[in-house]
Amino acid sequence: MKYLDSNPPRLSESEAVACLAGLFGREGTASDLYSDRDQNFRITLSGGEKAILKVYNSGEAEHSVDFQTKALLHLERNCRGVELPRIIPTADGAAYGRLASRDGEDHLVRLISFVEGKLTDEFAHTPALYRSLGAAVANLDLGLRGFFHPAAGEPLVWEMDAAMRLREKTGFIKDATARGQAEEIFERYVAEVRPRLQGLRSQIIHNDVTPVNSTVRPEAPERVSGIFDFGDMVFGALATEVATTAADSCLTGGDFLGNITDFVTGYDEVLPLEEAEIDILFDLIRTRVANEFVIYSWRAAESKDRDNYLLAYEEPTRKALDGLMKIGRHDATKALRDVCRFPDGTMPATLPDGSPEEGGKTDAALAGDKKDLITRREQSYGDAHGLFYEDPLYLTGGRGVWLYDNAGRAHLDVYNNIPHVGHCHPHVANAVSRQVARLNTNTRYLYRPLVEYTERLTALLPEGLDRCFLFSSGSEANDFALRLARTYTGNKGAIVTRDAYHGVTDAVDGLSPLEQPDLTPTKPWAQGVLPPCLYRSPFEGTEEEIVNAYLGNFDEALASLDEAGYGMSALVLDTGLTSSGVIDFPGNYLQEAIRRTRAAGGLFVADEVQVGFGRTGSHFWRFDLYGVTPDIVTMGKPMGNGMPLSAVVTTEEIFQAFKKDNYLFSSTGGNPVSCAAGLAVLDVLERDNLQANAEKVGAYIKRGLQDLQKKHDIIGDVRGRGLLLSVELVKDRATKEPAPNAVKAIINDMARNGVLIGSEGALGTVIKMRPPMVFTEANADLLLKALSDALDRL
Ligand code: PMP
Repeated sequence: MKYLDSNPPRLSESEAVACLAGLFGREGTASDLYSDRDQNFRITLSGGEKAILKVYNSGEAEHSVDFQTKALLHLERNCRGVELPRIIPTADGAAYGRLASRDGEDHLVRLISFVEGKLTDEFAHTPALYRSLGAAVANLDLGLRGFFHPAAGEPLVWEMDAAMRLREKTGFIKDATARGQAEEIFERYVAEVRPRLQGLRSQIIHNDVTPVNSTVRPEAPERVSGIFDFGDMVFGALATEVATTAADSCLTGGDFLGNITDFVTGYDEVLPLEEAEIDILFDLIRTRVANEFVIYSWRAAESKDRDNYLLAYEEPTRKALDGLMKIGRHDATKALRDVCRFPDGTMPATLPDGSPEEGGKTDAALAGDKKDLITRREQSYGDAHGLFYEDPLYLTGGRGVWLYDNAGRAHLDVYNNIPHVGHCHPHVANAVSRQVARLNTNTRYLYRPLVEYTERLTALLPEGLDRCFLFSSGSEANDFALRLARTYTGNKGAIVTRDAYHGVTDAVDGLSPLEQPDLTPTKPWAQGVLPPCLYRSPFEGTEEEIVNAYLGNFDEALASLDEAGYGMSALVLDTGLTSSGVIDFPGNYLQEAIRRTRAAGGLFVADEVQVGFGRTGSHFWRFDLYGVTPDIVTMGKPMGNGMPLSAVVTTEEIFQAFKKDNYLFSSTGGNPVSCAAGLAVLDVLERDNLQANAEKVGAYIKRGLQDLQKKHDIIGDVRGRGLLLSVELVKDRATKEPAPNAVKAIINDMARNGVLIGSEGALGTVIKMRPPMVFTEANADLLLKALSDALDRL
């Protein structure tokens, strides 16, 4: 509290000029600026360069000045994206000097460059301005990372934790309502907020970036360009830095929550906030305002100097306190979660990452941009597959279950399983960027991420499946699985379902008849069997009879491979039969097909590329649902949350048979960056219990789909489990005549309304839902509502 008891230095302007000449060997003019506890002079050096001469309060300890000086020197080397003051050394090269003033007190003195521009406070407070203030503070915090100074632990009246002392001073607040509000805030700070702060990311922070400590250049009036005044730096939680500026952005009036969310959006774009920080933020904002209000009230009561400029803040602070109490914590936190990456249920209206180059464009201009990009894509990218949806999406960002287009519109992603733990998950993004900045090489060198990943992955599989190979795509994994099976068995033939898809390589194309017009595999060594579907079956009878008929079809495939001289090397099955329209294996079909495969000398390859990693909800691997153990498991897509990472896991025996006569190396397979992504995905799955989430939310969606089925005859069947679900549309429930046009209409209708789903199945008659694993029940409500509306509009 020492600064509340000591008065700032009182130098005249001519004394400042003399100091400039004596200590710094520079000529110039000086004009006095006000400050709370020090004295600042605006200096115009003889060459025209502007600077600030700071004369410190005599109560300021030298180590504090040293702290600020070292921080500025550190920032000069490490801070990008925001202009900061630079140290101008004294005539003898020191970072600051000492001045004995008229009153006989010694003051430390420092000269720093002037941060160009006018105060942010002097510009219209638009959302863009607050966002850029957020980005500026985040850039500063990134620059301060890794800096430390022992003086950073000094208690300061302007730090968040001063609440512990200021709560005893609420008696200075005259207004009874405001006093009650401050007391309530402090009580919560002690009981709820402070204990949680201790576990959050902390570092040295500026602790006082406000619209009056930051600058804007008039030529770019919506962009904060500079920050100054490093006198309140402390070691503290990053969340308190964010809260401090957010709180002070309310002192200028306007829409408090709008100011706060705009500022936080800008900060989060540069330095993503963690969920625990967001959840505590609003309490911290209120605490900061309560701290300030107590300080101003106390100062007003005790100050001899009634003109103290701080008093001007008393009324705006009281209004901010009152306004923030009226915005409920729940609503504020929900708004903050929405603008960061934790949207919960309601659709965020705008793109959180801003894509500034698109800002302010008309709908027609945005549509034109999209058309241009489509044309350029057609000209340069051999587009073999086309774009989803009648009106293709031009995407510029993703967060959690949301995708954002070039107009800043949010789309609920119910289709993409590759961003398994959510689009752009910060833990994955951080793990990848950390590793890519440290080391990226290949598996002929020794590095930890590969070993850690393969250890963790094989620990998730049944005993015996403990030899792991890493690749970059699901296709490669299946191709290699086929090689393993052929080497081990000495046979060449393979069986898949006739609408299977297993990838793009030449061999795997033979295992992917889905794309063929007659659903016949392109290779003579491959046989396509009927997917054992109970809903749409060419066979009739009891379930057992139908399953036996399907197994008869399987036996025919085995026999024809035998007759053709290929024999049986591998039964390759997507264990969710996804491309067949998401089908559970009925009765003992899978167990029997595997038994018959092995009896013919073949191996069972479980393709978990689509369905693995907890998507099934009740089980981590879909094959586990049937109590079977594959000889080989392949996996891919979701493993790296979009980073190229795939795997083949098999037994020691199969591996040894391969190793005897073969060499294997993949240049990018198993690289440390992909492994880091894989490890981060496993971390998030475990920490956030996403398998259980898939089970719970999947069951919730399925119940909703079944309710829709009761209302809409066009829904013939609802299938799936966990977060892999499908709905089959038929023109007539009795004849089951497919309704592919209705599927298309629904998919496009929902896409127009911001909900993304896809179609599946050889007949194009199945709607497929396969969202990121972080999908919530609130998200599910949006999905079900959009589907229900689209069905009503058919
Ligand atoms: N297997 C299955 C079941 C798949 O769904 C896919 C991709 N859709 C693949 C393999 C091929 O994976 P990739 O595209 O990574 O090569």
